[in-house]
Order: sequence, then C-alpha cells, then structure tokens
Amino acid sequence: MRFEALASSSAGNAYIVEDGETRILLECGITHKKLLKLSGFALSEICACLVSHEHKDHSKAVADLIGRGMEVYMSVGTGTALGLESGYYPVESMEQFNVGTFDIVPFTTFHDAEEPLGFLIKSRVDGEVLAFATDTVNLRYRFPGLNILCIEANYDKAILERCERMPDKVKKRISNAHMEIDVLCDYLKSLDLSQCREIHLLHLSDATSHEGHFINKVARAVPRGIEITACRK
Ligand SMILES: [Zn+2]
Repeated sequence: MRFEALASSSAGNAYIVEDGETRILLECGITHKKLLKLSGFALSEICACLVSHEHKDHSKAVADLIGRGMEVYMSVGTGTALGLESGYYPVESMEQFNVGTFDIVPFTTFHDAEEPLGFLIKSRVDGEVLAFATDTVNLRYRFPGLNILCIEANYDKAILERCERMPDKVKKRISNAHMEIDVLCDYLKSLDLSQCREIHLLHLSDATSHEGHFINKVARAVPRGIEITACRK
C-alpha cells in the first residue's frame, strides 16, 4: 500500500492511498483542479473519496466531485452539515464497507464537528493495513497489525502557550479540537507498532508546531526503523 500527501494543513487536506489496483482519495479540502494537478491523476483514475468531517479544509471539493460522478463516502452527520441531502454514500463508525480491493472500517474521532470519522483501510491485494486519523483530540482505538499510520500532529502545548498574539478563544479551540504532540506520543507508545513501517504526521499547525522537533519526539516514542515524515503543507 502507498500513501501520499497532496496537501496537509488548515489551508486544505488531500491524500492518496493506493495498492496497485485501487486508488482512493482521503479528504478533498482543496479545489478539484488543484487535486488533479497535485495528484497527476484524472478523476476517472480515482475510485472514491472518503471525507472525515465537514470543515472546508477537508471538504472543499465535495459538491464538485459528486457532480462529476465520484463515489464520496462520509457520515450522515458530515453530509447533513455540508447541506447534502443525497448523492453521497453514508457510512457509520464500525460498519465495514468496500471500495475496490480495500476493506474500510470508519471509526469515531473527537473534533468540533457533527460526526467526524477516521478510517482503517486494509488492502486485499497486499494484506497491508493503514489507519488515517486527523483533526482529533485523541483516539479511543488501538489498531493491531498496522503497516502505515497517518495521524494528526497539530500543535505543541508549550508553543501554544507562548503565542501571545493568539486570542485565548483560538487557543482554546485548538486544544479542544486537535492532537497535541505529547498526547500523540503517549498514544503511539500504547500501540503495537511491530509491523509498522511508516508514520505520516498530518496537519501540522503553522504557528504552533515544529516539524523537526515533532519528528524527533515521535521517533523516541516508537520502535526503531519506522520512517517518520511530516506531510507537506
Ligand atoms: Zn476540522
């Protein structure tokens, strides 16, 4: 299985997952034009799009993609919040569905959105397992046998506290809706990562994160040999 970040920030999120037979898009928080340009694929070469929640930086191109005939999957809460009555495929936490050669299980995440989801994706081609979770304060699930983990590393509490120019309201919103780096490291320590080969850190905040520092912290929290990357913004 292969994971690629096309865009990963509060300005827009979009990722590609593929296993040689099936290619899907995770999130569509940039314009449809930009999606095609950054991915290098035509829409007909992408089987489906999964959307985690309704915030624009994850869902900007939803109506456009549905209008162009793409299968778009999201929770009913997300669909309703986006003002969609139909045209999308509703999915529910813990209810498995399939797209091509992928078996996909959505799971609940914790964010200031209606019904946000993460996705556990297993390929029937190579047997690999990928978990994707972004915009979530924490996670309740421990995923066994993960090969690729794509997870939010949004901010550092110490940097956030030092941001004098940031209004308290904004600080509060960040800490109530996004994953702090030490929370992530504690979560990673609780996982069995013996099969894991890649960790992709998603959605690093512009003002309150530090890429090198985050990668070092994560490297100390996980077994050696795992490739850790911060996704491009
Ligand atoms: Zn969000």
